[in-house]
Amino acid sequence: MELNRLTIKQARAGLDSGKFTSVDLTTACLKRIKERNTEINAFITVCEKSALAEAEAADVLIKNKKIKPLTGIPFSVKDAICTAGVRSTGAAKILDNYIPPFNATVIKKIREQGGVLLGKNNCDTFGHGASNENSMYGPVPNPHDTTKVAGGSSGGSAAAVADNMCIYAIAEDTGGSIRYPASFCGIVGLRPSYGRNSRYGIMPMASSLDTVGPMTKTVEDMAIVMQEIAGQDVLDATTVPDVVPNYEKELSKIDLGKLTVGVPKEYFSVDALDPEVKSATLTAIEKLKQAGATIKEVSLPMTKYAIAVYYIVVPCEDSSNLGRLDGVRYGVRADEKSLYDLYAKSREAGFPEEVKRRILIGTYALSAGYYDAYYKKAQKVRTLIIRDFEKVFQEVDVLITPTSPFPAFALGEKSFDPMAMYLADVFMAPASLAGVPGLSVPYGKTKSGLPIGVQIIGPRLSEGLVMGVGEAIEKN
Ligand code: GLN
Repeated sequence: MELNRLTIKQARAGLDSGKFTSVDLTTACLKRIKERNTEINAFITVCEKSALAEAEAADVLIKNKKIKPLTGIPFSVKDAICTAGVRSTGAAKILDNYIPPFNATVIKKIREQGGVLLGKNNCDTFGHGASNENSMYGPVPNPHDTTKVAGGSSGGSAAAVADNMCIYAIAEDTGGSIRYPASFCGIVGLRPSYGRNSRYGIMPMASSLDTVGPMTKTVEDMAIVMQEIAGQDVLDATTVPDVVPNYEKELSKIDLGKLTVGVPKEYFSVDALDPEVKSATLTAIEKLKQAGATIKEVSLPMTKYAIAVYYIVVPCEDSSNLGRLDGVRYGVRADEKSLYDLYAKSREAGFPEEVKRRILIGTYALSAGYYDAYYKKAQKVRTLIIRDFEKVFQEVDVLITPTSPFPAFALGEKSFDPMAMYLADVFMAPASLAGVPGLSVPYGKTKSGLPIGVQIIGPRLSEGLVMGVGEAIEKN
């Protein structure tokens, strides 16, 4: 097998037994990137030279038995996450020349153990989108069918993992950006609980929803990466002090006979739900039942408000977070004499349409007179959505839903219709607003060969359980 196809688990075994080196593994990934990136456009920046140097350094660590779980394993990172010394654009032209002097905490943790950074993945600009078509560096075609989108916003990361250009990736999920493209590309993606992983160094989108998580080829790999990146961080006051459990142990602990799986009826009655996606999800649930799990239909009545709430709260927080990008302190500056023109021209050229749209909507919804009617009201309904989940998790251990109502759609199909794109998030927004973890695992394909993803949602900080159920589904 080509080395770039390996999982983390397999790569670890090969590296530690001396079957191959990190330089071999990294070279295989770089070769694949070279062959495929022109078509797939999964990378905005490729770090060929530094990756090989990092691999050499990792080989020394391995030789000296200074081995940590991710030592010498090549990975890639969503471009909205800061990487010291490596250009980080957020897929926005306003940051086209931005080289952060620091690593995001999750990246620091990986690089400190000798993880090899291959490069930076394309995404919808600052994470705004569900198809990766809102990137100022071009769309990412789906490796399974290049006429279709890879999903977004972390489309480059999903495509890079699915197309074996890297061994795993680190991305960001505010309202589905890890889970959604994971389902379109047939890989595993975890949005952790809000507060589980540090967001220090992540370009902020909506601070009350942003999370960082891995995208991997298997659930087992997911547990390995989560183990290394989770935990409290003094640089992110929203991280929680709760001890990080041993996730691999939690996976093996799972007892389906004691598990109650909730099937939220609202997720199976949306008009847009594709019959093949529905039937695959129901089959996954049926298989869990056959393995001993108790299945229970439940209701999350506030689900129908989630998109409306999400698309008020997120633009409001966006509009305030993106204020820092004015062409003065970071990135590309328009050549203008007056300060006003400098701001206006830098932003005009540096932001794509969707980012401008969100800043406008957010600024409007936060303005005097509208604040109560929009933002405050949305926050109140958000509380009701949180209560929906709290209530349902008194009855069941986890929920199973489709990740997306439909498989990957065609490039260009929704890109001119923002509302259609927003509605794609229908199964993503509720868990995001509630701050609970969601995992997407691949479960079969459509007749036309497109991957289908199933989502497992659990209570706050139940990543171990969610991954355990995910692995049971994966093994089916
Ligand atoms: N589709 C969501 C949005 O456009 C995805 C956001 C995210 O998770 N970064 O807001």
